[in-house]
Amino acid sequence: MVNLTRRGLAASLAALPIVAAMPAPLRARSSGPLPRLPVTARLRIGRFEVTVISDGYIDFPFDFFTGVTPDQARAATAAVHAAGVNGVRGSFSTWLINDGERFILVDSGPAGTVSPTSGYLPGTLAALGIGPEDIDAVILTHAHIDHIGGMVAGGRNNYPNAEVFIDRRDVAAFTDPSIEARTPAITKSSFAAARQLVDLYPRLQRIDGEREIVKGVSVFDLSGHTPGQIGVRIEDGGESLELVSDMLFHPAAHPALPGFGIIFEMDKAAADATRARFFPQAAERGSLLAATHMPFPGVGRIVKDGDSLRWLPADWSYTD
Ligand SMILES: [Zn+2]
Repeated sequence: MVNLTRRGLAASLAALPIVAAMPAPLRARSSGPLPRLPVTARLRIGRFEVTVISDGYIDFPFDFFTGVTPDQARAATAAVHAAGVNGVRGSFSTWLINDGERFILVDSGPAGTVSPTSGYLPGTLAALGIGPEDIDAVILTHAHIDHIGGMVAGGRNNYPNAEVFIDRRDVAAFTDPSIEARTPAITKSSFAAARQLVDLYPRLQRIDGEREIVKGVSVFDLSGHTPGQIGVRIEDGGESLELVSDMLFHPAAHPALPGFGIIFEMDKAAADATRARFFPQAAERGSLLAATHMPFPGVGRIVKDGDSLRWLPADWSYTD
């Protein structure tokens, strides 16, 4: 018989092994396992509604970075409290543009391919009431698998009605067996994904240079990180947002250190040069930027800080 008086309970607990005396974790009384909450942020850029949707995240190991040793990467990120046990946390942000007539997806996330903590985009689209068949166009900023992995699953295209836009130089590079042959093993999955993309999307358009995709949505050159990386500029009514993909990885390094790169870059010199050119230009323009791997939602500006540059996250965008 359990003695429910205070004294009696204390006496009973004292007699139990210590592990049994630990309180049970608190649980909401009426719920089973909670569904994953969609990780989203929404901005209005003129007439456009732009929803940042995270496909998940990864902890980039310290030895993935170039321009620094793993120890330097660990020390530099530890100095600003950004060194995790397994590396540097990176988001996988994707963007859904609604222009009132069309849904345009920018990038499709890794979809579980390079990180088990990814693949959340389709569930979030469903939570927003958007099916894969509702996506009218997909713009792919470059052909790395963490940006194109979600285009194909189980040998089928995931966005059957979408016109797909990707730079011609990335399609050429990532379907070229001779380039693949001299590429580190870790990047080979991007080549396989690029070949599937070309095979399964007959409406894929290889694009060249700056062009408008729909009114107010245009692409611009950010080549360096890959031979054909592009950014997407959304512009209306005096407002603009530039989706700049992998131009910035983490505020612990970018924009202060343009030579901080990642091992997936085929041409490090070109990647470094593009960052070194872009960062001060973006600061000068005061552009509102969104970057894939920056801490979610990855929206902010590059600002001058004395002789250096730093990342300033944008205020949270309340759209009410
Ligand atoms: Zn990336």
